[in-house]
Amino acid sequence: MTDSTPTLFTRIINRDIPAQILYEDDQCIVINDIAPQAPVHMLVIPRKPIPRLVDATAEDKAVLGHLMWVAGEVARTAGVDEAFRLVVNNGADAGQTVFHLHLHVLASKDGTQQFTEAQL
Ligand code: 5GP
Repeated sequence: MTDSTPTLFTRIINRDIPAQILYEDDQCIVINDIAPQAPVHMLVIPRKPIPRLVDATAEDKAVLGHLMWVAGEVARTAGVDEAFRLVVNNGADAGQTVFHLHLHVLASKDGTQQFTEAQL
């Protein structure tokens, strides 16, 4: 993709669009999803606007690993480290709507409730 228009998530990272920012570092940001599909629904977003997971290159391996690590850390901070799910939608047909890679971290607030398919 050669489109240089900032993605929605880049605009959030740049503070052009408000969001509830839960964590950020030099490689990524974590926000609450605007339309949560579970009691805890966070998005872990790399600063680098990789459109889809399949667009990541070998150079991106470190940041991909970092995103996974951060997902675990924010799950721990949210108190849901005993029960959460990570979801990556890759491509419109898989439900991807924002073409800036992100991990969905989904959990029930107390970490004990089971998910239903409808929540995902
Ligand atoms: P996707 O469908 O691409 O896997 O996930 C995109 C997610 O971004 C959706 O869960 C959607 O609710 C969330 N989202 C879309 N626009 C905004 C926004 O402006 N702010 C926040 N915090 N989340 C958003």
